Amino acid sequence: HTLDDHDPEPGRVRVAVRLRPRNAEDLLSDADFADCVELQPELKRLKLRKNNWSSESYRFDELFTESASQKRVYEVVAKPVVESVLNGYNGTVMAYGQTGTGKTYTLGRLGKDDVSERGIMVRAFEDIMINISSASDSVEVSYLQLYMESIQDLLVPEKINIPIVEDPKTGEVSLPGASVVKIQDFDHFLQLLQIGEANRHAANTKLNTESSRSHAILMVYVRRSVHEKEDDFHVQEKDNISVLPSDHGIPTVRKSKLLIVDLAGSERIDKSGSEGHLAEEAKFINLSLTSLGKCINALAENSPHIPTRDSKLTRLLRDSFGGSARTSLVITIGPSSRHHAETTSTIMFGQRAM
Ligand code: ADP
Ligand code: MG
Repeated sequence: HTLDDHDPEPGRVRVAVRLRPRNAEDLLSDADFADCVELQPELKRLKLRKNNWSSESYRFDELFTESASQKRVYEVVAKPVVESVLNGYNGTVMAYGQTGTGKTYTLGRLGKDDVSERGIMVRAFEDIMINISSASDSVEVSYLQLYMESIQDLLVPEKINIPIVEDPKTGEVSLPGASVVKIQDFDHFLQLLQIGEANRHAANTKLNTESSRSHAILMVYVRRSVHEKEDDFHVQEKDNISVLPSDHGIPTVRKSKLLIVDLAGSERIDKSGSEGHLAEEAKFINLSLTSLGKCINALAENSPHIPTRDSKLTRLLRDSFGGSARTSLVITIGPSSRHHAETTSTIMFGQRAM
């Protein structure tokens, strides 16, 4: 059986909220202000201050205070998705929040000097590698950036405008032309993440924009051969070579993918205040995040129609969220009252899945 057998709400996006610790700037400016939010993790409840007199409560699947470790966030948010991917289902882990609240820290931190700092990408990879055994198993990676409805390869940045293709029969989404790299070992994976990060930075400098304006998408393709009836499966020895009993046939190959998505900053970019390129950019970011919100909402309401056609972001996610796929969303927020409006809108986005 699978994880989904016990799941009363298959397909729904699980939402956790993570509060970033105060930074120097918060400490300077917040001296006269009360906190914007209060987390009650044991009640899975978040209280958001409306004004000096009242606050509103919201329920989430999980709440992480500023002292939550990277390990715990991984175990609660991503590990169930990774396990499901190892069982042959697609899965997605996403981070949504205002720029500077910890999306990249949560997902992409390499933790080269301090392994306790490692983020979800690295921990997920480690867990997958542990479960890859036979010579025919493999882990492959693509790393992409989605900016203004255009997909760029972060491993080979010359590759731009990569199309999204959907198999009409299976619904499988693919990206013809994007580089897919077979991972040799842990160091190789870290190296690719670093290359991707450097290319993202370079590409954005060239475009004169900020990384926070684009979505970064790591795709991990897992291929595992499993024996369906492991229990009554006996390998026979013949001339010191293991052969499979003929009545069991060849093992089944399970193929699945894990998507880890560092979304563009959720701060509302004022379209009216900006002109030309910036206004276009704002329009596209708002389009993809709005369209993602609609899909998450449709999944929560068990709607038969998930509107994934409206943006490239949701088209890319189409076979990896909802249905048999398992999806986790981390909502990242800061504690400062200075960002009350953005924090409120971020929390409202997360509520759409509940
Ligand atoms: P985002 O990707 O959402 O723009 P970052 O992940 O870059 O935000 O985080 C902004 C800053 O805050 C970084 O310096 C990061 O190291 C720090 N930070 C974020 N979350 C945490 C956390 N939970 N604990 C410690 N530092 C954090
Ligand atoms: Mg970031």
